[in-house]
Amino acid sequence: MELRSERVEATILDPRHGFEPAAASFEVRWDPLTGHTARILDKSNLLPPSDFDLEEFAKETREGCFFCPEKVFDVTPKLLPEIHAEGRIGRGQALLFPNIQPYARHSSVAIYGPDLHYLPLDRMDARIVGDNLAAQVEFVRAAQRYDPEARWSSLSANHMLPSGSSLFHPHTQAAVDPYPTTMQKLLADVPAAAIADYLETERRLGARHLGRTGRVEWLTSFAPVGFNEIRAFVPGSAAVGDLDGSLAEELAAGLATALNLYAELGFQSFNWALYSGTVLNLRLVTRSNLKPLYRSDAAYFERLHWQGMVDTSPEELAERARPRFS
Ligand SMILES: [Zn+2]
Repeated sequence: MELRSERVEATILDPRHGFEPAAASFEVRWDPLTGHTARILDKSNLLPPSDFDLEEFAKETREGCFFCPEKVFDVTPKLLPEIHAEGRIGRGQALLFPNIQPYARHSSVAIYGPDLHYLPLDRMDARIVGDNLAAQVEFVRAAQRYDPEARWSSLSANHMLPSGSSLFHPHTQAAVDPYPTTMQKLLADVPAAAIADYLETERRLGARHLGRTGRVEWLTSFAPVGFNEIRAFVPGSAAVGDLDGSLAEELAAGLATALNLYAELGFQSFNWALYSGTVLNLRLVTRSNLKPLYRSDAAYFERLHWQGMVDTSPEELAERARPRFS
C-alpha cells in the first residue's frame, strides 16, 4: 500500500529578518483508509502543555456533581428491565446507566467509579479502564439482544471540558443505533483486506508501528485527524459486542498505556472512539488543555475542511510511545 505524502514550500518576506525571503515547508498526507488529509507543520506550540491545577478544579466541581456517590443513584436514569434487570450495570468500580439526553436508540454513560471524580491521566490503569470497558460491552450486547435492528455500535469518550465533556466527572459513552456516524461509515466501507494491507505496510516501515499486544495492533496515525493520534485495530473482530473478556482487558490495557503517555506529554484532555465496522478500530487524540482562555485545537481546518492540522510528528510520537507498548 502506498502511503502518500507531499512536501509543500511557501515563501514569505519575513518581518523578523528584515523582510528577506524566507521559505517554510510542511507536509500534506493522505490517510490510506479514508482519504482524509492532514498537514504536518514544524513544531510551533499549537497545543501547549498545561500548568492548570486540575486537582483544585476537581475540588471546585465536586459539590453537587451528578456522578459522585451522594447523587448518582438518585439522579441518573435506569435501563429498561427488558435490556438489563438491575437497571444499571456495575463492574468493579465502574457504573453504567443510560444517558439522560439520548442521542442514539440506546446510549449509555459509564463512569470509572462514583468515587473517581478526580482521575488524572497518569492514574488511568488497566483495571480502571478495563472495568469501564467491560460495563460498556455488557450494555452494547444487552441493547443489541433486545433490539437487533440497532446494529451499529460505538464507544467514545470526551474527557474534560475542551474535549466536549459537559461534566467534570470522568466517563465514557456508548451508542447503539440503526444508523452509523459519518466516520463510522467511512471506516466500515474500507475492505478488511485494505486494513490488513495498511497494517502490514506500517509493520514493514516501522516508523509509526507501536506493537501488537496480542490480538490488538497499535500505531500512530500516518495522517492524523488530531493531535498525537494513536490508532488500534482488532483484526478478526467487527463489533463492540465481539470484545470478549480477555480482548476487552487487552484493549483497556493499551488505552491506559496511551493515556499514561499523554499525561507524560503534558495533556489532560482527550477524545477516543471505538468503531464497529468491517474491523473494530479505535482512534485516540489529545485535546487542548483545560485552562482559562485556552486555544481550541479544533479550528476551521478540522471542523469545516475535515483536515488535520498538527505540529506534532506521528513518527516522534511513535518513538515516545513504543517503549510503553513493547
Ligand atoms: Zn463527581
